[in-house]
Amino acid sequence: MILRVQELLSRQQPVELQGSVDVAELFEGSRDVFPLGPLEYRLTAQASNRRILVNGELRCKLRLLCSRCLTPIDETFAIPFEEQFQVMKEGDPEPGEEDDFVPVTEERIDLRPFLEEELVVNLPLAPLCKEDCKGLCPECGTNRNEQSCACKTDRIDPRLEALQNWFRNE
Ligand SMILES: [Zn+2]
Ligand SMILES: [Zn+2]
Repeated sequence: MILRVQELLSRQQPVELQGSVDVAELFEGSRDVFPLGPLEYRLTAQASNRRILVNGELRCKLRLLCSRCLTPIDETFAIPFEEQFQVMKEGDPEPGEEDDFVPVTEERIDLRPFLEEELVVNLPLAPLCKEDCKGLCPECGTNRNEQSCACKTDRIDPRLEALQNWFRNE
C-alpha cells in the first residue's frame, strides 16, 4: 500500500489503487471487534502540483458485539475515504491546524495507517443489535430480548444507580 510520490507527480493520469490489507493485527486483543475479512480498498490517487489527493472507498466485514446484550453483529462497513498529501519543499511553512493536508517529505507514502485509522474512527462506539435492544438483566444475566425474568430491577443506568444508593446512605 505504498504510493510513490515522484511517479505520481510526474504522471498526469490518476492512478487506481485496489487491493486489501489484513486487519487481524489491528484488532488483536480487542474484546468487541473481530474482523471477518481483510480491509478492502478501491482508491484513486491524483496529483496536481505538489498535492496528492487520494479518495475512494474502504470496505471491511467485522463482527461487533451489541453493547447491551453482547449478541454478535456481523456487518460490512463501507466507508468513504479521502486524504490529501502535500509534498513539502525546503522553506515551506509548517502546516498549521487549519491545513487540510498531511505533509510529506519522503519519496514514499505508506497509506496503510491512514486506511486503518479511517476504519477505526468510523466504527460505532456503542453498537446495538437492534435499536430497542432490552439488554441483559443485571441480576441474572437473562437476555431480555429473548425472555423476561423474575428479577425486580428497574431499568436504570448502573451509574445512576450508584448515585441513587449514595443518596440513600445520606
Ligand atoms: Zn442487543
Ligand atoms: Zn433477571
